Amino acid sequence: MSDATLMTPPARYSERLEGCRELIAERGFGALLIGVGPDLRYLSGFVGEPMERMTLLVVPYEGPVSFVVPRLEAAKAGATPLVSAGAAAVVAFEETDDVAALVAGLISGAGTDPARPIGLSDRLWAAHVLRLQRALIDRRFESASAVMRDLRSVKDADETRILRLAAAAADRTVDAIAAGPLVGRTEAEVSREIRARLVEEGHDVADFAIVGSGPNSASPHHEATDRVIAAGEPVVLDIGGSLGGYCSDTTRTIWVAGEARIEPDREFRRVYDLVREAQARAVAAVRPGVPAQQIDSAAREVIAAAGCGDYFTHRTGHGIGLEVHEDPYIVAGNATAVGPGMAFSVEPGIYLPGRWGVRLEDIVMCTESGVEVLNRSGLDLRAVRG
Ligand code: ZN
Ligand code: ZN
Ligand code: ZN
Repeated sequence: MSDATLMTPPARYSERLEGCRELIAERGFGALLIGVGPDLRYLSGFVGEPMERMTLLVVPYEGPVSFVVPRLEAAKAGATPLVSAGAAAVVAFEETDDVAALVAGLISGAGTDPARPIGLSDRLWAAHVLRLQRALIDRRFESASAVMRDLRSVKDADETRILRLAAAAADRTVDAIAAGPLVGRTEAEVSREIRARLVEEGHDVADFAIVGSGPNSASPHHEATDRVIAAGEPVVLDIGGSLGGYCSDTTRTIWVAGEARIEPDREFRRVYDLVREAQARAVAAVRPGVPAQQIDSAAREVIAAAGCGDYFTHRTGHGIGLEVHEDPYIVAGNATAVGPGMAFSVEPGIYLPGRWGVRLEDIVMCTESGVEVLNRSGLDLRAVRG
């Protein structure tokens, strides 16, 4: 989509690079080497797939920033907002060039103190890392996420706007599926419809469409199968894609009542209400300064107190942005305080193996004063007639 509301304003990239360089200095790095992936997209606007040819944004502690790309991608790199704004220069290499040596030359040319470590982006292929390590034999390497995590986990106004649009598009998809029909269709068929609808509703691409019916709902990352959905069972829908580069991710558990209007039994009701309560408690716990693990325990305590703790088998949530799973992780042991601009999922679940499961997931955003829930598709148990 070329809709202006989905665009990150070009000037934003230079600001991000500026912020990145401040943190490079503050965290003591000599340079960051950012390969193709979400970190590179965040800093430069470059969208692509990693490949065997090295593509690296070389951000030294000081001095010029170079965008090292194979010759065939020089024009594409030159058209990124970062390069267009003059904040980085394209350094194109030929197929026969030693790229790692070229990068080593850029780093030593920038005169960075050799004692300072070089930060590598998390998604940089091991094949590239090994070549860089050989070319920079006396340098220490660390994860660039010590810098990138802090930048990317706090969403700016544009990112927030796009995340809201992505959530709304996913909500419309959930609503359409929950309207039925479901009975007599296979999980795979419904999954394909979800993918098509996600795109119809504005996503660039549908990334996943989990449809877990009956006993399959007890497997949190179930892949849709040829199982035929029947009346009198639940279906867990966990769907998402990306829109303007930013991800959606929402889960609803719905009840397939069928023509006979079969009601869920008392145990299913109880578990559904429990998950809903846990989800609500965790969302209510979100405000600036609260450790991520406290949001996790807000959900977990509700489920544990009801004796279902062993059936809540995953963390409560994950950050979301250019990646569907990113910092901050809402998990025991993560003492990082959440702050304004952080977007993450709150998705407790209870899974009774061989029987059924329930999960409810919303993306929320920590605000200056509390929390904004981005998904609005409603958490009342919905019964599908058909
Ligand atoms: Zn998941
Ligand atoms: Zn999900
Ligand atoms: Zn999720």
